[in-house]
Amino acid sequence: AKKQGGGAFSFFSEELRRELEHRKLLEHDMRIAIAEKSFQVYFQPQVSLTTGAIAGIEALVRWKHETRGMIPPGEFIPVAEKSGLMADIGRVVIAKAIRAAGEWHRAGLQFGRLAVNVSGTELREVDFDAFLFDTLEAEGLPPQKLSLEIVESVILDDEKTGIAAKLRHIRSAGVHLELDDFGTGYASLSHVNPNEIDRLKIDRRFVQNINSNGDNTKIVRAITELARGLGISIIAEGAETEAELTSLKSIGCDQVQGYSIAFPMPTEQAQEWLALRSP
Ligand code: C2E
Ligand code: CA
Ligand code: CA
Ligand code: CA
Repeated sequence: AKKQGGGAFSFFSEELRRELEHRKLLEHDMRIAIAEKSFQVYFQPQVSLTTGAIAGIEALVRWKHETRGMIPPGEFIPVAEKSGLMADIGRVVIAKAIRAAGEWHRAGLQFGRLAVNVSGTELREVDFDAFLFDTLEAEGLPPQKLSLEIVESVILDDEKTGIAAKLRHIRSAGVHLELDDFGTGYASLSHVNPNEIDRLKIDRRFVQNINSNGDNTKIVRAITELARGLGISIIAEGAETEAELTSLKSIGCDQVQGYSIAFPMPTEQAQEWLALRSP
């Protein structure tokens, strides 16, 4: 038994050692990528099912690693958060996204609003609001053309962290706020309030297979009715099939985003997509 225990122990410490090694390497390369601002931004359109109009376009970070190829955000963002690097990465991404949207705006391309993801660590930086306003001004993008996608848990953050006041300040300038991954967090209905929030984004897990999963249909319908009753916009993410679009349309969930509309695209390609659809 003693021997077995020892074996298990060394097995776990080997796993742990490798895990830490992997994280250290990733962290090292991430610092270089931040310094070189080599994180890229992809854009995924959001459209209205009833009018076909473009409601928005979401910026999604991409990291093309020199030797490892594309590393998905789901893999490196948790490491970035643990290493205290997420705020720096977020700024590279937000600045690049706002720069692109500023160009589209000047070119007269219709894109609704640029939506950027913002995590709690980014929002907790004391000068996040100043950074945002400076960037909008420098790139010539009106605040009304920007929306921040924030997960529920961050919005519900204690007033003491200053996040709530910062978000009110940002919103009072005309920037929209939305609850991302809605339905997966600690949905406190007291924060689903049109005085604080402009849009709810229904999480992918409720949208996928909506046409064959009765429970998902009920959840999406309930969220859609809640939003409509309160006068908050609603969007479904992760719609992959025509059947899902049909179900969403019949429920009255007007805005959608997902592979069935368009994949996330690099800047040039996103611009072409917008140009093809601009009136
Ligand atoms: P999210 O905000 O929920 O973004 C939606 C994710 O679903 C994206 O994954 C997108 O590529 C993917 N997606 C879009 N349509 C479909 C579909 O029809 N089917 C499926 N299966 N997936 C779809 P991605 O780009 O890998 O991003 C993962 C997460 O990483 C995001 O989830 C977001 O939480 C985070 N993230 C991405 N970019 C940023 C960023 O710039 N800043 C911050 N703070 N977080 C980011
Ligand atoms: Ca998002
Ligand atoms: Ca999501
Ligand atoms: Ca998310």
